[in-house]
Amino acid sequence: MAAKEKTLEDAFHETLKDVFYAEKQSVRALGKAAKSAQADELRKLFELHREESSNQVERLTQIFEILGKPARGKTCEAAQGLTAEMDDDLEEFGSGPAGDAVLIGCAQALEHYEIARYGTLKSWATQLGLQDAAKLLDETLEEEKRTDDLLSQVAEQIANPKGSGEAAGKAAKG
Ligand code: FE
Ligand code: FE
Ligand code: FE
Repeated sequence: MAAKEKTLEDAFHETLKDVFYAEKQSVRALGKAAKSAQADELRKLFELHREESSNQVERLTQIFEILGKPARGKTCEAAQGLTAEMDDDLEEFGSGPAGDAVLIGCAQALEHYEIARYGTLKSWATQLGLQDAAKLLDETLEEEKRTDDLLSQVAEQIANPKGSGEAAGKAAKG
């Protein structure tokens, strides 16, 4: 018996399950990261994005509804691996400036995975004529991109605390 040929809609549904799992892992990882972060601005950013991520899980359940499918995830090995790396690094570096730097790196790896997945899903939704789904995916994609930028900014602030950063750099140039 020949297997039924897979369609783009199948790919969309499978990838939605993948990112549903990854997003839930991400909520969990961000909670841990917020507890471990030493710098206030970093902890706040993790807390904020944890809230956003819970809302993103909600958006995904709306997209399952649009498809008429149950909101069910499937193991995403990438998200599992990335969150396992964060756990390892937390253990190895503890809290402090280096710990914060490593935490930001792990969090950005997770954001980049999400950006890749949501970007693909948004473009597939558009191709499939699922405009409402595409809009929801775009809202999430923008939050992921903004979080990635904010993480880069916080990393710079931590590396160059007030007084020793920009101003000192300008002074050095004379
Ligand atoms: Fe997310
Ligand atoms: Fe995955
Ligand atoms: Fe995210």
